[in-house]
Amino acid sequence: MKTEQSGLFFSRAKKVIPGGVNSPVRACKSVGCDPLFIQSANGCMVTDVDGNSYIDFVGSWGPMILGHAHPDVIEAISNVAQRGTSFGAPTPLEIELAELVCDSVPSLEKVRFVSSGTEATMSAVRLARGYTGRNMVVKFDGCYHGHADSFLVKAGSGIITLGIPGSPGVPEDIVKNTLSIPYNNIDELEKTLRARTTDIACVIVEPVAGNMGVVVPEIDFLQTLRALTAELGIILIFDEVITGFRLALGGAQERFGIMPDLTCLGKIIGGGLPVGAYGGKQEIMDQVAPDGPVYQAGTLSGNPLAMAAGLAMLKVVRRPNFYAELEEKSDWFAGKLARLAENADVPTVLNRIGSMMTCFFTDAPVRDFTTAMKADTELYGRHFRQMLAGGVWLAPSQFEAAFISAAHDRTCMKKALTEIESSFKKISA
Ligand SMILES: *Cc1c(COP(=O)(O)O)cnc(C)c1O
Repeated sequence: MKTEQSGLFFSRAKKVIPGGVNSPVRACKSVGCDPLFIQSANGCMVTDVDGNSYIDFVGSWGPMILGHAHPDVIEAISNVAQRGTSFGAPTPLEIELAELVCDSVPSLEKVRFVSSGTEATMSAVRLARGYTGRNMVVKFDGCYHGHADSFLVKAGSGIITLGIPGSPGVPEDIVKNTLSIPYNNIDELEKTLRARTTDIACVIVEPVAGNMGVVVPEIDFLQTLRALTAELGIILIFDEVITGFRLALGGAQERFGIMPDLTCLGKIIGGGLPVGAYGGKQEIMDQVAPDGPVYQAGTLSGNPLAMAAGLAMLKVVRRPNFYAELEEKSDWFAGKLARLAENADVPTVLNRIGSMMTCFFTDAPVRDFTTAMKADTELYGRHFRQMLAGGVWLAPSQFEAAFISAAHDRTCMKKALTEIESSFKKISA
């Protein structure tokens, strides 16, 4: 595998960009590699600047549910771009996307578009605080909700991978309003919410955790969370930035039949362009400026290119059987993968729901942050490098999801499985 060009770009990038990357996980430090610089991508394949092609299971960290450069998405962006790229005034495209999103996600009555998942969660928490008049935020260990100050407490992959507990630059005054408790632990949840009820504005949760690797919620955990927050007048925020339009058209809330008060979206709704959104019950959303006093704004919010890309993508995923086919394909792949792991005698735990999965290098079930941390990251690093050499691109961290897209056909999945088999064999030898 030639990596000369990537190496040259990386040296150049490091001189002007911190760590040579615009988002830390891309640096690939924890898997002992330098980043590959990407030239192009199509379907389930990405090609780097040295001309190597890889089967892609990163999917831009979630958005590319149709695979790369889907013709509908590219055509929509190109058409809209001809008419100008930003106006700072409303366009019909925003309404169309808002209608489609509210129609798809069961708990959404109104939605506000922003430019990233981070902005969506940050704004949803501000709204929950404004609405309840309380300050405290409860989150779960290992869940990531973007990089706003209040969330950088036990915050999942990016931070775990760097081996730091939180972040310098986040004032204690802010973090003292954030409580982080274990995922999938009903006792801790109930104790915390009852003890601090009058301080707690909201609980924010990844309804399926994707940022400590995939950790599926126990159904009574989510049900108890919903029942308790409703009883105590605490806003329940589902951070569906990954799971929205991934696990079902209506996201995790549709899949589990549990309705949050507010929902955060991102990744897929932008069709690969920078978009986030937060929405929920009208009564709460009407507190947002200019209807209400909770301020939130954005120069590029509702950007026409981003709206067009999101619309094109959502129109495809709304076709009949889209999710059934993705499920079937993911199930087939995960089944084969589990069997390879068994046969290879490599201790692994495969956590999967729908088209997102993580193969943890550990022998005990992974149901929260503590159990996820038992995974052998050295072994993952080795697996990652062997897969890369075999033309398969996995996330450069044990604590991330692998995503299957509609563009992953049997041929590419079989090729990936062959590479996995040979990587497992090398590991167990
Ligand atoms: C990616 C992610 C975010 C942050 O989104 P950005 O667009 O990267 O700011 C928030 N929450 C979850 C669950 C995510 O996976």
